[in-house]
Amino acid sequence: MPGQMQAQKYASAWRDLRRREAAYWIIFFTYLPGVVGLFKLLDWLAPGLGHSLAQWIAIAWGAAWIFSGYRRLAIHCPRCGERFVADRWWETSSLSSSECIHCGLPLWSEPTDPKPTNNR
Ligand SMILES: [Zn+2]
Repeated sequence: MPGQMQAQKYASAWRDLRRREAAYWIIFFTYLPGVVGLFKLLDWLAPGLGHSLAQWIAIAWGAAWIFSGYRRLAIHCPRCGERFVADRWWETSSLSSSECIHCGLPLWSEPTDPKPTNNR
């Protein structure tokens, strides 16, 4: 049944998106405790190590966050198969877009069936 397959395709795309969105927020909210925690852990392992690496930890964490923000919408559109974000990753405006930039499919939408199936 093609309609069902399409529904599955949409569902898996949105599930993927939800996972990536969760990763994005987790990295965001763990930024400060994560960096400070890692800093303290390294200093505990080897005195002074955390100090010398602190800025790199902060940079790496920030980079991971930016990357996850990009990955969040780098999923493939279930309708047209293209990615939601622009192919040029520096076009960050497309990251806040709530629809596919290729075919305009809104995020979280259900597969549109021209004729709703009546199971009689
Ligand atoms: Zn699309």
